[in-house]
Amino acid sequence: MSAKSRRRRHEAADNGAKLPEPLPPEFAILRDIAPPIWEEHSLRLVPGSAIEGFPDFEGWWLRDSSGSAVGLRLDHHEDVSLQEKVRATAEGVESFIQEAGASSGRSNWPPCPAHPRTHPLASRMVDDGVVWCCPETSEQVALVGQLLDS
Ligand SMILES: [Zn+2]
Repeated sequence: MSAKSRRRRHEAADNGAKLPEPLPPEFAILRDIAPPIWEEHSLRLVPGSAIEGFPDFEGWWLRDSSGSAVGLRLDHHEDVSLQEKVRATAEGVESFIQEAGASSGRSNWPPCPAHPRTHPLASRMVDDGVVWCCPETSEQVALVGQLLDS
């Protein structure tokens, strides 16, 4: 990791992006949200049952300024692989931020570096993790959780 990305991560922590510490590994995607995105949508994390009405489903809520929220589940089921949990959280958070950005016309988060005006990156499970890749060329861009380091 370069000094630059370390500094950027530190700034993210100062910008109100209060990530759970230590960050549960299934919430890796939260590291991929750059500070301007947290600010633009006034995103915040709130601990609580990740499914309304079911207090046993431990988790967090990611909320935006409109009152919308997505539940991030801490799933302790051992028959669900960590990759599946990372992918499920990534898909939920990606859709949530895209919907939050839809009203301002910026709904392609996270933008594909090769086609930033065309489509967002897609998350895919690979042998050793979950990666962001271009949905057109399948080119892998970064592991989910390391997008801002790439
Ligand atoms: Zn692309």
